[in-house]
Amino acid sequence: MDFTFVKAYGTDYVGGIRAALAASSFSGNTDGLTVFPGFCDVHVHFREPGFSYKETIRTGSLAAAAGGYTAVCPMPNLNPVPDFREHLDEELAIIRRDAVVGVFPYAAVTVDEKGAVLSDMEHLTDAVAFSDDGHGVQSDAMMREAMVRAKALGKMIVAHCEVSGARWSGI
Ligand SMILES: [Zn+2]
Repeated sequence: MDFTFVKAYGTDYVGGIRAALAASSFSGNTDGLTVFPGFCDVHVHFREPGFSYKETIRTGSLAAAAGGYTAVCPMPNLNPVPDFREHLDEELAIIRRDAVVGVFPYAAVTVDEKGAVLSDMEHLTDAVAFSDDGHGVQSDAMMREAMVRAKALGKMIVAHCEVSGARWSGI
């Protein structure tokens, strides 16, 4: 069964699904099954560019589609980190080429997710939001500045709210 959305049915989702099933080779019994809208996972790791030996946008989005996810948001711990326009463009080009569901990437809050210098946020508005993923921004002043700039752009900051010094040994 392919994942083609039957646009001809508009908001008649059940009719569209019936038509898609009828046109497919699916022959199972659908009695008692429940239809859901496509799911959205706001924290995935597709590892491309940079770490495609772990996962790619193609394989990750195929897995998402198989699980009923029609939109996913990959985190920015990539190489290069999407902290400048050209770095995000590299990821977006792969998404346009390979994604089979909606893939809406995060841009980094700080350059290389190092927490020292804010990313080029004003030129990263094609990203769904900003995150340094597993690296909580440790400077209160820098996080405040990031939040002010994100708000001005109409974007969210999606943060691991962690104090690195207390992570493993506690306080
Ligand atoms: Zn993560």
